[in-house]
Amino acid sequence: MAKDTMVRCEEKRLHKIDGKKEWRWVQIAVADLSSDGAREIRCLYCNGEVKLRKQQLAAGPQVHIEHRSRLDAEHCQGSHAYQGSHQTSLKPVL
Ligand SMILES: [Zn+2]
Repeated sequence: MAKDTMVRCEEKRLHKIDGKKEWRWVQIAVADLSSDGAREIRCLYCNGEVKLRKQQLAAGPQVHIEHRSRLDAEHCQGSHAYQGSHQTSLKPVL
């Protein structure tokens, strides 16, 4: 996979279920994330920690995410550095 294909992630959102508030992970396009950076996000494939990369140039890579951990990147099927045998992150964001 090319480096800049991680354009979807999971965002933690507050839901109201039966009158109770509950945090749930929702799949979302990285481009649709609010830009305040206050929200929690994670990789939707391995649940690992990710960092947001903004689009710098109009012709450059679009906004996307990258794994914070190199180990996660090597074991995540969504990553450009994937070495095979997909694993959930060793330090998943819960
Ligand atoms: Zn991942």
